[in-house]
Amino acid sequence: MNIKVPAPRRQKKKKPLKIYVWIYFMVLVICILLLLWVFQYFFLPKYYRAAKIREVTASANSLIEHFGNDDIQSYARKVTFNQNMFILITDSAGGDIVLENNMGNYSFFSNDKNGNFGKTLYQLRQQVEEEQVNITKIVRSDEFDLDEIFYCSSFQSGGETYYIYAEAPIEPIDSTVSIIREQLIYISVILFELAFIATVLISRQISRPIEDITETAKKFGEGDYDVEFKAEGYREIEELAGVLDKARGEVKKVTDLKKELIANISHDLRTPLTMVKAYAEMIRDLSGNNPEKREKHCQIIIDEADRLSNLVNSILELSKLESGTMELTLSSYSVNEQIESVLTRYTLMIEQDGYDISYIPDEERFIRADHDKLGQVLYNFINNAINYSGDEKHIKIRQINKPNVVRIEVEDNGQGIPKDKLSEVFDRYYRGGKVKRETVGTGLGLSICQEILKKHNFAFGVQSEEGKGSTFWFEADIDTKEDKR
Ligand code: ADP
Repeated sequence: MNIKVPAPRRQKKKKPLKIYVWIYFMVLVICILLLLWVFQYFFLPKYYRAAKIREVTASANSLIEHFGNDDIQSYARKVTFNQNMFILITDSAGGDIVLENNMGNYSFFSNDKNGNFGKTLYQLRQQVEEEQVNITKIVRSDEFDLDEIFYCSSFQSGGETYYIYAEAPIEPIDSTVSIIREQLIYISVILFELAFIATVLISRQISRPIEDITETAKKFGEGDYDVEFKAEGYREIEELAGVLDKARGEVKKVTDLKKELIANISHDLRTPLTMVKAYAEMIRDLSGNNPEKREKHCQIIIDEADRLSNLVNSILELSKLESGTMELTLSSYSVNEQIESVLTRYTLMIEQDGYDISYIPDEERFIRADHDKLGQVLYNFINNAINYSGDEKHIKIRQINKPNVVRIEVEDNGQGIPKDKLSEVFDRYYRGGKVKRETVGTGLGLSICQEILKKHNFAFGVQSEEGKGSTFWFEADIDTKEDKR
């Protein structure tokens, strides 16, 4: 028969991390370069103009502040020299108070004053008087083929009105711009090359630990549980390696325990099966006609069959619980009644085998739980206490009422559990070292208890000291509605 296997859907192959790092880096570099180009190349002339205007205004203001000081002349000279300006301060009658010219014949104001009776200066002053504002103008000088800043404002000093005129050229910065452009080309090329090298180094730094972990994970996937995930590089890798190592540990533990379980189960299945066969043959060949012997042998067959069915039931139950298909049937009932009813089943044991099983109750409490499943937990804890109590046959079941929960403890004075094994007792398939045939188990009982208690959201645990005994406990939620009744 031909079975048609659907062809696996082709997934687009993703690019390696290196390429992504490279792309992001290049985008960043391009953004930086664009910003540089826009600001340096396109906005530079505008910035320069605005800065020059600020400079001229600030110089004029500093002169106004200085006005009246004895050193105003030398101060004005210094300012005009530094800023390559023309400065003139007149009184209201038009008489020069301060005049400094560092522009020589290029000064428009100076030429206007000398050759044109100061017509332009007068117009500026009129505008200031009429509009009551400071005047800042950019004027094109065709003669010298450059722009100039004209500034004029009035100010008061000692009750008199004075006028200040300032003139400064805006030198062309074309040559500066072309130098910057050239530099920008170099910077761009260098940045691209650096970015390329940096990308290769960074992506190698980032991807190498990931590649290492992937290699190790492949080996792990192929069944090598002794691999070690290297926590090298950076924190995220350290965390990933930690998580994978933990997962590896868990898988290894479960695989080892499963192997052990199969060995245990096959042993546990083989023994009763051999006994069933042997006793059946014995009844057929020898004891069939001897009612006393036959009954005894039949009982052995029944006990062994029970043992087999317990084993199979436990495995089935755990797999059901773990797959999450088991639903809880919650109801409200008295925990005291439940413990007492569980204990009635042990009366025979108490009488025949000399066990001392005592219940130390607290005030009656109603809990909300799945009655049958919680009963199973109680049975399991008590059975284990009996199985592992050794010669000390004292078992105590304690009820301790707390504000919102009832704590149930099952205490024995048996062999106890070694400290390093305490965290494993609830694990699937865990079985302590020396287990007698009479206490045949699967190592599944406590895992079933754990699944049931987890599903209830009940806290649970074990305290134990080797050679002194163990106390298994859980805390069931009190049914508050029932409690208020
Ligand atoms: P088993 O069927 O082997 O009893 P369990 O899951 O109930 O499986 O218990 C797992 C193991 O935990 C046991 O094999 C035993 O070694 C240990 N254990 C459980 N209860 C006790 C106890 N009260 N005292 C000492 N060891 C215990």
